[in-house]
Amino acid sequence: MVDGRGRMGGYGLGPGGECVCPKCGYRMTHPRGIPCYKQKCPKCGELMKRA
Ligand SMILES: [Zn+2]
Repeated sequence: MVDGRGRMGGYGLGPGGECVCPKCGYRMTHPRGIPCYKQKCPKCGELMKRA
C-alpha cells in the first residue's frame, strides 16, 4: 500500500477515527467532521476524547 503521505503510522483505525470516554473507557467510532469532544458517551454522558 502506497499512500504517499505516511498517514498509516500508529493508529490503524478507520478514516473517521475512534473516540474514547475518559471516564468509563467506552470506545466508539465517529463520523468524519464531528470531533470527539462534541460527542457524549452513551453510557455515562461524559464528553468523549480522541482515542
Ligand atoms: Zn463513559
